Parts: sequence; C-alpha cells; structure tokens
Amino acid sequence: MKAIRIHQFGDPDVLKLEDAPLPAVGAGQVLVKVQAIGVNPVETYQRSGSNPAIQLPWTPGMDAAGLVEAVGAGVTELQRGDRVYTSDTVTGSYAEFVLCDQTSVHRLPANLSFQQGAAINIPYATAYRALHHRARALAGEVVLIHGASGGVGIAATQMARAAGLSVIGTAGTDAGRKLVAEQGAHHVVDHRDSGYLEQILQLTEGRGVDIILEMLANVNLGKDLTVLAKHGRVIVIGSRGNVEITPRELMKRDADIRAMTLFNASASELASIHAALGAGLENGTLRPVVGREMRLADAAKAHVAVLEPGAYGKIVLLP
Ligand code: NAP
Repeated sequence: MKAIRIHQFGDPDVLKLEDAPLPAVGAGQVLVKVQAIGVNPVETYQRSGSNPAIQLPWTPGMDAAGLVEAVGAGVTELQRGDRVYTSDTVTGSYAEFVLCDQTSVHRLPANLSFQQGAAINIPYATAYRALHHRARALAGEVVLIHGASGGVGIAATQMARAAGLSVIGTAGTDAGRKLVAEQGAHHVVDHRDSGYLEQILQLTEGRGVDIILEMLANVNLGKDLTVLAKHGRVIVIGSRGNVEITPRELMKRDADIRAMTLFNASASELASIHAALGAGLENGTLRPVVGREMRLADAAKAHVAVLEPGAYGKIVLLP
C-alpha cells in the first residue's frame, strides 16, 4: 500500500509517499480501507519532533474514514464493508489502509461523507471534552469560541449551540466569519480587529462571558481574563508559546483557567465522547465542514496550509 512515512523529524518535506507493507490484522483489531484522512495541527508538531518517543519511520495521523476491510479474532461489532471513522490508530492514518484497535473504530452515519468522517475525531472529541468535561457548560451560559473557524472551533460552535448556550465565535477573515455564523453562532467578531474585546463586552451588556474556549492562548490568555464574567472559566485548548497574565483579573472574578489535551481522556471518557458524537452526527446537529481536499501525495502542502491564517473548516487528504 501507499503511505506517508517520515524517516527523520523536520520540515514538511520529510513527509514522503512510499510503499509500505499492508498491516496484518491481529486479535481485537480492524483494518480500514481509507477513503479520507483528517489533517490536524498536532501532526505538524509531531512531524517537527515535539514527541521524540515516536519511533521512526513513522506514518502520522489518527483521523480517517473509510470501509472496514478485515476484522481480527474477537471483533463482533464490525464487519467487512462497514462505513467507519477512526479515533486512534496502530499504523497511522496518512495511508491507503490503517490498522486500529476495535475501540478506536466508530460507525460513520450514512448521512455523512467519508470526507466529513475524516473531520470528526480530534476536532469534535476535543470540542466535546473542552465544553462538557472541562468547562462543565450549562445551557443559558455565554461561550466565547476564540478561533471558531477551524476544525475545533466549528465543532464547538455547533455543539454549544445545540446544548443551549449563547455562542460568540471569532474568525480572522470574512469567509471564516460567514462560516461561523452559518454554523449557529449568535454573534461573530474579528479577532484581528483592535476593538473586538470591547465588542464582546457590549454583546454581553458589560457582564462578560462565562466560558472561553481558547485556541491560541499564547496570544490571547491575558486579554481573555478581561472579558470573563464572574465565576468564568477559560479552557486552554491550543497554545504556541508563552504569555503574561494579570492574576488579579482572575481574583476579581473567582475565575478559573483550565487546560486540556485530548490525549489525557481515559478510555471510558473517550467511549462516552464518541457515543455523544455519534448521536449528534446522526441527528444532524453535528455537521463536519470540509474546506479543502488535497491528495495524500500532497501531505507536505497540507502541513503548511493547516498552520496558515484564514482557517475554513477542515483540510482532508484523499488517498
Ligand atoms: P485550525 O483548524 O487551524 O484553526 C485555528 C483557529 O484559530 C482558526 O479559527 C483561526 O482563525 C484561529 N486563530 C488564528 N489566530 C487567532 C487569534 N489571534 N485569536 C484567536 N483565534 C485565532 O486548528 P484546530 O484544529 O481548530 O486547532 C486549534 C488549536 O487547538 C491548535 O493550536 C491545535 O494544535 C489545538 N488543539 C489542541 C487539542 C488538545 O487536545 N488540546 C486538540 C486539537 C487541537 P483564522 O485563521 O480565521 O484567523
């Protein structure tokens, strides 16, 4: 089969399309014939060497959608031909076939394309964990989704709207802001506009927001604290550097800064998250948005694109 492999950590051009052996299916495992692959920022960090424990050569990727090709002994819930999406893999999803543990393979509802299936796992599971497990969001609260036009932000916007929150989303381009509004945000502001924090305070009549889902904490965390309501909480989802904050802004509000990484979710939490996502995908409240499709051979270009400003939903690769 064809697969992207890296033999050394580095810039995007270390991603090479190569021939790789078709994985053998063991007990409790599922082999998926991949139809689409989700590209996430985390794979660019891993490719650069953020996790030196990764054994090379290595195929990136956790997220894919496709058809079950074969199942190992003991797998009773899935069979050849089933439409599925993956939430983790044994062999890496940037490939024509991917081997997974059966617990990482979930049914893809018939109303979703494979491209949408590839856009589910990291963005939607992260948004769910941030909103429900970490922020403990309640219907009626106001949430600021700080970076709503990308993979996690779109997921969070749809989810928060469906859960009865009042949603303020941000994006840095006109196209991004239109997209965020279409996904159900009640208000959309431009995080590149110098007056946007003032606008957020005006939208909440000076009270501030109860929850902030923060995609770029190194730029925003200090400012976030100034637009929080009393007892507000910031959930740090993404950060690419250091930041200075004024603790007194937290003290004034009895406020919390919380953080998360999806990799810390336990097996039972993940099972619960994917049960919730399955329901939302089936009933249409969760609708992954694919902004760009590229060939698997163009994985290097996709790694450049996923870090560029002007996010518009997900980038997926097609094998
Ligand atoms: P993405 O699709 O590239 O989206 C990035 C988002 O951040 C876009 O909405 C972008 O808007 C926005 N953004 C850019 N500059 C901003 C600024 N100054 N203030 C606020 N927002 C800004 O990425 P993603 O997949 O949604 O992931 C978002 C972040 O979360 C990444 O850093 C990723 O590594 C991290 N993440 C963490 C976890 C975890 O487990 N903690 C899981 C998934 C992702 P414009 O492009 O319109 O400016």
